[in-house]
Amino acid sequence: MHAMSCPADSRRHWPLVVLLATDLACRSASPGPQPPESPAGPPVDVVKKEEALVLDGARMTADITFLASDEMHGRHTLSPDLRRAAEFLAQRYTELGLAPVGAGYAVDFPLVVGAKLEAPPTLTVHRGKKAVAAAAPEFAALPQSASGEARGPLVFVGYAARSELEGEAKTPVYDDLAGVDLKGKIAVVLLEAPGRPDAMALLARLQDDAKRFAEAAKPLQEKKDVAGLKALHAKARAELLALVDPYIPKDRLGEVWPLPEDVLTVEYNPMAIGGGLFKAAAGLPGPRFGFSEGSLRTKVERLAGAGAVGVIVVRGPRSFVSAEARKADVLPALKPEKPGRGGALDPLPVPVVQMQWQAADKLLGKPRLSQLQADIDREKKPRSGPIAGVEAALAVKLTPETVAVPNVLASLAGGDRAQEIVVIGAHYDHIGEAPDDECGEARKDGVVDKICNGADDNASGTAMVLELARAWKQSGRTPRRTIVFTHFAGEELGVLGSKALVDKPPFELARVVAMINLDMVGRLGPKGLAIGGLGSSEAWLPLLDEVGAAGLEILYEGSTATRSDHASFYRKDIPVLFFFTGTHADYHRPGDTVDKINLAGMLGIGQIVTGVMQRLGDGREVKFNKAGPGLAGGLPGSDPKTIIKKVNGGGA
Ligand SMILES: [Zn+2]
Repeated sequence: MHAMSCPADSRRHWPLVVLLATDLACRSASPGPQPPESPAGPPVDVVKKEEALVLDGARMTADITFLASDEMHGRHTLSPDLRRAAEFLAQRYTELGLAPVGAGYAVDFPLVVGAKLEAPPTLTVHRGKKAVAAAAPEFAALPQSASGEARGPLVFVGYAARSELEGEAKTPVYDDLAGVDLKGKIAVVLLEAPGRPDAMALLARLQDDAKRFAEAAKPLQEKKDVAGLKALHAKARAELLALVDPYIPKDRLGEVWPLPEDVLTVEYNPMAIGGGLFKAAAGLPGPRFGFSEGSLRTKVERLAGAGAVGVIVVRGPRSFVSAEARKADVLPALKPEKPGRGGALDPLPVPVVQMQWQAADKLLGKPRLSQLQADIDREKKPRSGPIAGVEAALAVKLTPETVAVPNVLASLAGGDRAQEIVVIGAHYDHIGEAPDDECGEARKDGVVDKICNGADDNASGTAMVLELARAWKQSGRTPRRTIVFTHFAGEELGVLGSKALVDKPPFELARVVAMINLDMVGRLGPKGLAIGGLGSSEAWLPLLDEVGAAGLEILYEGSTATRSDHASFYRKDIPVLFFFTGTHADYHRPGDTVDKINLAGMLGIGQIVTGVMQRLGDGREVKFNKAGPGLAGGLPGSDPKTIIKKVNGGGA
């Protein structure tokens, strides 16, 4: 197997079939999902110093095959499979002879999975001399709450949301906190964002509807009953439109879930439909709200930053996706079954309780909170202000519960500038299996598939980081700077592993001169490759121009996407680059499997990444650029204003 890795430039011209043949050869060779063999074997051709590092496609395929095998159950961060994947990575680095960064290759970080109450929480509303205590079933301490007591005048702050910046002045046209004094106050805040439902509940509902649709469609597809399928689609689509009607009027949903030309292939893809709804919502008139505006953490940190000493959270009646959910108004558990997304459960800066909306309506009096929500959603205008003459006191006493989760790190010692570190990283966790988190089951040829294998997301980036380490180590070259190969856990839960690493690094963070992130590099397609984060240093574009495009179609993006691990480094003023081949119909679905990996694409991308790595390893200066376009909630290419340039395959 080793013999195949010859210098990159000759391989690039190998016909695609040959590359895939090598890939098929190694795949058929491997009996089952055993960790691939270590690169012991005869030494590869020693690559002359000035030559490029050579990545081996068959090795990457073998590693993706293992990591994305059904036996790894989609590598959820809180599953034993993640620990197995970490052991596999550590084994590989041991065999390669790279040094651990911490005591071992696995560098654990605490992930908060819940909280234990030390005393029942209390919430009392004071009107003059009258004090009314909220009844226990009507409110609950949130697992993320800080422990402590807080008392102060009550202030309603709507969704504590801020719309995207618009106009010359770059000011938000909608700001719930504008002109509101929160110092020493208790804030009452609505979950989600104006005119937006509970996104996770909506996704779960779409996944349920997808399951129901697949069951109903199956017999019709088997009978090739086109008319029956058309009727089924029309009915299910009408239900979908009714479901989202409170948020997006029907006439805006023309493009959502159209009937496919070949009706027999009709399927209910919750991710694609969700994406279509999000796009339609983004096109609605009025203020636009970034994804994070709906996050509890964003709200509470913003309120505490404005001086609030405590927060009462309420899910308003309009944010529920179904009447049953609105009626039940279930309060969050202290130890959620699945500490899902959204920054998980790390402690918030102030005590926070959640109250059921009907209890809040009663306790907080007129105007009713439910009415205020309806007014805001209708007019997209804030309704914030003090609740006259009312004070609240709340007390929460709890202890966070954590589990240890491994990031995996290995380093290649540098030479004369070993003090400086270049980080090349990729997350190795994924979303597990249905009904975990976001993983919705799918049906393939009538068989239910529950495992979100995560071959592209992100076994592809993981395999490329491993292969970069092997190629560099076996090239015998010593970079001037130290290179740290990093595999993050908890990315799917809100970039938790990379955040933990930069918050408590096993080396001085000031030593890190740059970070390269590979997240979903396995599905190069018509959209081409996106390289993001260029605005984080003015050195990036000239360096990338020097490295070239390896014949690929590339979009060079100035902004830094928040939705992957490089964002944690960017937030510490470290220049970053993000390599990404884009989302696809299998994104976060069981269909993200190794057979759909574009190996030739990975080899082309690998060529660019090695070119960047070699120049960084050899001391290229990259200064952090504070004046760049900054962080963005959207994916590379989603905002024309921050695209630097596009090159087409010809490298023109
Ligand atoms: Zn990912």
